[in-house]
Amino acid sequence: MDFSLTEDQRQLRDRMAKFAQLELNSGAIERDRDQVFPHDLWKRCGEMGLQGLPVPPEYGGEGLDPLSTAIALEGFGYGCRDAGLLFAVCAHLLACVVPISLHGSGAVKKKYLPGLCNGTLIAVNGMTEETSGSDAFHMASRAAADGDGYRISGVKTLATNAPIANLAVIYAVTDEKKGAHGGITGFVVETNTPGLRQGQRFDKLGFRTAQMGRLDFKDVVVPKENVLGGAGGGSTIFTQSMEWERICIAACHVGAMQHLMERAIEYARTRTAQGSPIGKYQAVSHKIADMKIRLETARLLVYHAASRIGKARDNAMNASMVKVYASECLQKTAMDTIQIFGGHGILTENELERALRDSIGSSIYSGTNEVQRNIIASWLGL
Ligand SMILES: Cc1cc2nc3c(=O)[nH]c(=O)nc-3n(C[C@H](O)[C@H](O)[C@H](O)COP(=O)(O)OP(=O)(O)OC[C@H]3O[C@@H](n4cnc5c(N)ncnc54)[C@H](O)[C@@H]3O)c2cc1C
Repeated sequence: MDFSLTEDQRQLRDRMAKFAQLELNSGAIERDRDQVFPHDLWKRCGEMGLQGLPVPPEYGGEGLDPLSTAIALEGFGYGCRDAGLLFAVCAHLLACVVPISLHGSGAVKKKYLPGLCNGTLIAVNGMTEETSGSDAFHMASRAAADGDGYRISGVKTLATNAPIANLAVIYAVTDEKKGAHGGITGFVVETNTPGLRQGQRFDKLGFRTAQMGRLDFKDVVVPKENVLGGAGGGSTIFTQSMEWERICIAACHVGAMQHLMERAIEYARTRTAQGSPIGKYQAVSHKIADMKIRLETARLLVYHAASRIGKARDNAMNASMVKVYASECLQKTAMDTIQIFGGHGILTENELERALRDSIGSSIYSGTNEVQRNIIASWLGL
């Protein structure tokens, strides 16, 4: 397997990294403190094509293959220090835009994809409920055929972008007897549809510029054309979107790890203690050597899994492996970078305590790491 990047892929990664460094990072400390979502920067990301990376150009996207999409997001993760904005883009792109692009009706794709890609619209994925997170398919939300459409009721929670979204991709039970396989359906719902209420923003650890909240559906009626795929296809569509999300967010982690490692190297070269740069002490240099090992192994796993999206059924296991590995590598790298910076590592102005806070959720969202290990074990016949 050869994972050397093409010239186009290298330029794509650099372009996304430079864009983020130049345009997205100013004011990130203050936005994190105040939990403000940067609508203007969201629009700029849309102009750069980030929200529509794998979407066909006829619908306003960049038409990239999955590996190139992951490489673009690696560059975004390397350059962008507003991790809440980065996560908002990923949740929108991977759990909403991708399933709409792959499974939306012609009318839905034509109506929404251009705005979703260019930064005019914001989407939220509503799966998790108060009593079903890891056990996602045991949801309480229900949808029933109603004339020419469906009537949906239920409450989704912990949903990224919920308070600010224009469009929701949500899942509800349409046939209780069939259960997860055939009994769950995905829907695209405009958030201004009567009966749908967007809850207030949750305060939280990390990703503080991203807005997370509830979506409350009370007899919300959507036309049949807003069904994703077909009635009963929801669990397959959701699982496929999680494959994209687990792999492509891990690509952002690879970029973030590269950035943290470079900061650690620079500090270890220039900070002196007892007459030597601290990088000359093995306790410090080995931490950085381990960062490099984690970075390169995670990158290989990401490229391997991204190159197999849509091509192999067992890529679901690769996605779970990447998700567990890259998230735990990122958390360890963020912790170790702080340790290398000593007391300066915990200062807000050095932007490392924020990187640590932003890394914590990575072992929870897109399915917890415990659940990913269950998935891997079940692929191994356990
Ligand atoms: C930053 C962030 C963003 C998110 N964004 C979204 C979003 O946009 N849309 C959305 O729908 N959801 C979103 N979520 C919710 C996320 O998908 C859930 O938090 C996650 O799936 C876990 O569900 P839960 O919180 O209900 O935990 P629970 O399922 O209650 O789990 C609690 C604990 O028990 C463990 N556990 C549960 N079952 C098992 C098992 N079978 N074996 C071993 N351990 C188990 C879990 O690993 C966890 O440690 C987000 C979460 C975070 C942190």
